[in-house]
Amino acid sequence: MDAESIKRSFEDSGLRCTPQRYAVMAFLIECNRHPTAAEIFEAVNRVDPRSSRATTYNNLRDLVQAGLVREVAVEGRAARFDARGMRHHHFICDRCGNVEDVRWYRVPGPASGSLGKRVLRECELIFRGLCTKCASRRASC
Ligand SMILES: [Zn+2]
Ligand SMILES: [Zn+2]
Repeated sequence: MDAESIKRSFEDSGLRCTPQRYAVMAFLIECNRHPTAAEIFEAVNRVDPRSSRATTYNNLRDLVQAGLVREVAVEGRAARFDARGMRHHHFICDRCGNVEDVRWYRVPGPASGSLGKRVLRECELIFRGLCTKCASRRASC
């Protein structure tokens, strides 16, 4: 996504394009290893030290609410963020907490009727286990 498309996606979502918000989005698009909010703040702050932690976190929250950024909840660890436009599933490593993308395929939704009156937006999977690095480390010892 280039600068123009980022600005357009903000406009489409009714978000004002502030330099700080832009920096958060640009970093997330360029960084594909699912950073935590703290990592995003550090990266944005390196480029523009005027950006406060609160501003960065608020911008992040706005982007998640607008649907431009996805929050990947990892139990017991800080949430990770993801701005990859393409739909995908996630693989979370039990040992190092690494979050990796798994190519999208359609998942059959829940049995009809099991959701009651709830409205389903999407159905995605989280795979759990050992990432490539941790799996090979285990094999070697
Ligand atoms: Zn791992
Ligand atoms: Zn992802």
